Amino acid sequence: MSKSITRTLAAKKRIALIAHDNKKAELIDWAVYNKTVLAEHELYGTGTTGRLLTEALGQEVHRLLSGPLGGDQQIGAMIAENRIDVMIFFWDPMQAQPHDPDIKALLRLGVVWNIPFACDRASADFLMTSPLMHTEYEVRLPDYGSYLGRKVE
Ligand code: PGA
Repeated sequence: MSKSITRTLAAKKRIALIAHDNKKAELIDWAVYNKTVLAEHELYGTGTTGRLLTEALGQEVHRLLSGPLGGDQQIGAMIAENRIDVMIFFWDPMQAQPHDPDIKALLRLGVVWNIPFACDRASADFLMTSPLMHTEYEVRLPDYGSYLGRKVE
């Protein structure tokens, strides 16, 4: 088996929340339902989603740029830099978005860094009710250091 490394997620998680326009009402409803658990963690959101969440939860939400203006890429970079632990991303499977490449890139980085993320309400419920939301967790990752050290002709 190839070498692996670990990253520790603290008990208090940094959670990114994003929803496309047709999914915003669903995300807000879900967030209000899960208000008590979310209050234990630190929240981040893309521009519009972040504003709506702040209004609905009365909890501070760190706001990034709007998704189509670079917000998805900001969250992707934060995942890569170990500044986001969990992502709830209600993307719209029924409508093409102007920033489709950014969405694909964000989903890819979620997998590259093996963060827990949910893209629909049922998965988000399973994630939020996991006991691991309240404890430290060791994320196991491929040793990307050896990728950097690979031979390139
Ligand atoms: P928004 O961005 O929260 O600013 O609407 C979300 C997105 O479309 O990725």
